[in-house]
Amino acid sequence: MDIFETFDGHEEVLFGSDPASGLRAIIAIHSTTLGPALGGTRFFAYPNETEAIVDVMRLSEGMSYKAAVSGLDLGGGKAVIIGDPRQLKSERLFRAYGRLIDSLGGRYVTAEDVGTTTGDMELIAKETRHVTGLPQARGGSGDPSPATALGVFHAMRAAAASLWNDPNLHGKRVAVQGVGKVGGALVELLTDAGAHVIIADINAAEVARLVEVHGVTSVAPDEILFTECDILAPCAMGAVLTESTIPLLMCEAVVGSANNQLGEDKDAERLEDHEIVYVPDFVANAGGIINIADEAAGRTYSWDRAIEVVKRIETTVDSILDRASDQATTPHAAAMAIATERIASVASLPMPPLQKGSHR
Ligand code: NAD
Repeated sequence: MDIFETFDGHEEVLFGSDPASGLRAIIAIHSTTLGPALGGTRFFAYPNETEAIVDVMRLSEGMSYKAAVSGLDLGGGKAVIIGDPRQLKSERLFRAYGRLIDSLGGRYVTAEDVGTTTGDMELIAKETRHVTGLPQARGGSGDPSPATALGVFHAMRAAAASLWNDPNLHGKRVAVQGVGKVGGALVELLTDAGAHVIIADINAAEVARLVEVHGVTSVAPDEILFTECDILAPCAMGAVLTESTIPLLMCEAVVGSANNQLGEDKDAERLEDHEIVYVPDFVANAGGIINIADEAAGRTYSWDRAIEVVKRIETTVDSILDRASDQATTPHAAAMAIATERIASVASLPMPPLQKGSHR
């Protein structure tokens, strides 16, 4: 592969290994223009190293835009550990990985992601301060999912205001695909707000529990995308909005937590052509990183303070939808423009790149 072609604007990519524990890690720092590059560590059995490199770079770039559009003073980074977490996890591996993070002197700050847990972050914390997502009992921000769900809820309110001139979700039909950590918390927020919620998940026991507790209705997992509703909330996996699914959607808006919901960028235009308001995933699901940012700011973490910032996702989405309509573009393109303009405006200030040791 052409490594520097793939870099495409990344400041730095660090490869680290510890043969004794089997650690093979890649840390990608896309941008520290707005602040330390914050992004989770994904522990995954990639089929080959090329896929791991491509994934970590794509994800770290996405983190730059998510932080920028959310108004955070954070850059974009991400890390991957290559291998099966069930077989490889050990204290030695995470401590070796913690030392690798520490060698960056705060230019990269890690957090949980697919395959890593709060407990893993505690092991990393034995070797470096540049780790977030620690348990709340240790002064950390803990599981980001409730904050992510709250952010999606507020993004839905903004979409509702744009479509129906009223942010209130009372009486709106919302279809939630995937009722895991984020989707489950979202169902509770929506039912409390008086929405009619329809859910689906491959985990039938969890579906039955939510039907029982919240009185929601359920459909089969392969029906939820095409269920008639006002708002569709993809909260399971990515690439659900594609050339083949979009014409079959029966909603007026798509607002969910899943990362990379669009199969390709062109799908944002396909949604527009079908008169479906799409709130970009990296805007709607930024509640988790906003919550972690409060912990990363180097003071005692506060849930109350963090959620005040999470709620601002509603105004962020308002301005994105306004800009999209004023400039006859898609919300996805408008959000990308806001993010890149913010990074460019700070990049144009006379400052050197963030130095090692500059993060608290
Ligand atoms: P999770 O694993 O707790 O929940 C995902 C749920 O989706 C599970 O219940 C799973 O059974 C279900 N699911 C999987 N395939 C399905 C299918 N085909 N049909 C219906 N349901 C299916 O994960 P989560 O933390 O709730 O995250 C959900 C999504 O949001 C992911 O895409 C994640 O990357 C994204 N996200 C999460 C956070 C966070 O704070 N947790 C932050 C940003 C983005």
